[in-house]
Amino acid sequence: MRDAVQVDTVEHLLAALVSLGIDNVIVELNSPEVPIMDGSAAPFIYLIQEAGVKPLASARRYLKVLRPISMSRGDKRIALYPSDHFKVTYSIAFDHPLLRHQSRTIRLTEDAFIEDIAPARTFTFLKEVEMLRQQGLALGGSLENAIVIGDTGVLNNGLRFDDEFVRHKILDVIGDMALIGHPIIGHLVAHRGGHALHTAFAAQVLEERDAWTLVEMPIEPRTADGLVSLPIKDAIRAN
Ligand SMILES: [Zn+2]
Repeated sequence: MRDAVQVDTVEHLLAALVSLGIDNVIVELNSPEVPIMDGSAAPFIYLIQEAGVKPLASARRYLKVLRPISMSRGDKRIALYPSDHFKVTYSIAFDHPLLRHQSRTIRLTEDAFIEDIAPARTFTFLKEVEMLRQQGLALGGSLENAIVIGDTGVLNNGLRFDDEFVRHKILDVIGDMALIGHPIIGHLVAHRGGHALHTAFAAQVLEERDAWTLVEMPIEPRTADGLVSLPIKDAIRAN
């Protein structure tokens, strides 16, 4: 939200943009809500790849974490720790046999995001869908844009990953933390978080100015055998 303009459901699109290294982009919407698509970030990845990405001849500014920053609300916790890379560890726990406990740590590279995180869909419980329907809400929600969890299993035709739920939470937190405005160099650790905690934490990170510094790094050029870092001057020349 800025001034009088508010846009909802930005997190999957922002996660796709930040993970593919897009710093400059124009997003046009004809509604105050980003389309949910299939509930994942995969359609946005597809569109970005179709459009193509243009490297810019300037170094990118990263937020490098210097000391731990943390926030907790009841049994929900989120923290950032110093690390040489952007890593996310997420754990979830629900009172449901299908997702009693799931945990995953991932070092975020463009490829890791595309393959392991972007396809993970949002999820909801059938009970909640029924409650919303009774109130006339979520009428556009369907098995096409979310995993719906019933008492004994998912109502969809299977899952994209065994632990698709925690992968989607990683997708969400990447998108919510994109509100900071800089890619992060640090280890983000969250337990039982949600959008409210993620976005409150993003604001706290910006306030704790002594806990991080902005560093300029060249965009890592892609090569056949993976990612290599070039000194800034060489990266600019290569572009
Ligand atoms: Zn989500």
